[in-house]
Amino acid sequence: MRIILQLLSCYFLLQTMACAQPITFDHQKLASSYSAYKEKKITHRRFKHRDIEPIIQGLKRPFSVEQQGQSIEGRAIYSVSVGSGDKTVLLWSQMHGDEPTATMALFDIFNFLVADDALNEMRDRLLKELKIVFIPMLNPDGAERFQRRNALGIDLNRDALRLECPESRILKEMRDKLDADWGFNLHDQSRYYAAGNNPHTAAISFLAPAYNYEKEVNPTRELSMRMIGEMNAVLQQYIPGKVGRYNDAFEPRAFGDNIQKWGTSTILIETGGLKGDLEKQELRKLNFIAILTALNGIAEDQVGDYPLEAYDKIPYNNSNAFHDVVLREVQVENNGNWYTVDVGIRRRDVGGDTPIPYYFDAYIQDMGDLSTFFAYESIPARGKRLVPGKIYPKLVSDWKALKSLKIADLWQKGYTTVRMETMPSREMLARIPLKVVSAKEKKEDRILPGQHPALILQEKNVNRLMIINGVVYDLSKSNRERLEWWKGL
Ligand SMILES: [Zn+2]
Repeated sequence: MRIILQLLSCYFLLQTMACAQPITFDHQKLASSYSAYKEKKITHRRFKHRDIEPIIQGLKRPFSVEQQGQSIEGRAIYSVSVGSGDKTVLLWSQMHGDEPTATMALFDIFNFLVADDALNEMRDRLLKELKIVFIPMLNPDGAERFQRRNALGIDLNRDALRLECPESRILKEMRDKLDADWGFNLHDQSRYYAAGNNPHTAAISFLAPAYNYEKEVNPTRELSMRMIGEMNAVLQQYIPGKVGRYNDAFEPRAFGDNIQKWGTSTILIETGGLKGDLEKQELRKLNFIAILTALNGIAEDQVGDYPLEAYDKIPYNNSNAFHDVVLREVQVENNGNWYTVDVGIRRRDVGGDTPIPYYFDAYIQDMGDLSTFFAYESIPARGKRLVPGKIYPKLVSDWKALKSLKIADLWQKGYTTVRMETMPSREMLARIPLKVVSAKEKKEDRILPGQHPALILQEKNVNRLMIINGVVYDLSKSNRERLEWWKGL
């Protein structure tokens, strides 16, 4: 207990120190007027090239838009340039197709740069001091499929040396042409990372990439580190304890590492997970604030004054630390005996090209002693039993017939799963409080890692919770509205 208290006090001290760093930038004004800049045409993170292309083509002065080339499948890749200063900044987003958060923030930044309000002094400074070049969505073919790699199956972030892909060549040429002083490499990371060994997700993580195996710090990299310290100090005001840092192992084929090596002070921003923000709209806003914090620091020539130690105080990313749901110390049955286990459930993002906001596929990721794991939703379940739900015996013909079912009645009888002749689309499946399987399915999945069971948590033979596709429904709270809302889809 004493050790825990010491660790906690140490942790809070570190947090206070991080917050105690002086912040010169008026980020609050930016945050409070954010909704005025938010690009309304992008409302979710499954947007495609065809959604953003008209917005880019519609940008007017002071922006200058140029097509720099095209992807493997012929989608245009654009640069958007603005500003007349001599400090050059290159920002590229979504080199991995399923990492779209920062792309949304870039469009918000475009709107900010041409607004006319109380922040005019700041935006005038940015446009006067900087030349900013954005490449939003470097991997449009990957975005089309909501996958990391491009259409050739290549991870662009391992193609910085060979430059086999047209997308990679565009990035390299843009960096060289601009001879950028600053580079912002914008990604998303797993939602299951923690910031240090803390029950906080790494909502945003940073890295000043190494440029050699020795991880040396030259003036180029030192500036990146100082800048990250400042961005962290600002973000701590919004997400205390939820900022992490990547380990700086050198990857000779990655763009961040090479761009740092080529003399551009490079900052990697990785957006992770934040409870209650599945669509990452809050994280989009935090990207907006963090990037503008940095641009302002560069424009004001302040970066050299930011303390270098602040970077080292950011806790390292603790990978594989979270589950979406953990049922703690629950009883599961096998061969007539009951055993005490923790059950960890994760929701896997499902690819596809349908622009429905968010869909996923939940599965049991791990079982056993998960006391070292954190969870978005942690369910104390000591003495309670976890059982798979039952399959409803009648075959459901179609979507209309599915909608006519009374979920509460089914649940009452322990049915969590229905068999359907015509399967609804995967995005629909992720939204309904029933598990849907094909007509030939006879047996429910078991409670084992890798399986996808719909689950019932029972207390003294009374059903308390339903866990269907990784979503927890509390039977004492679930009202008709909550259960039936999807029928309007
Ligand atoms: Zn990435």
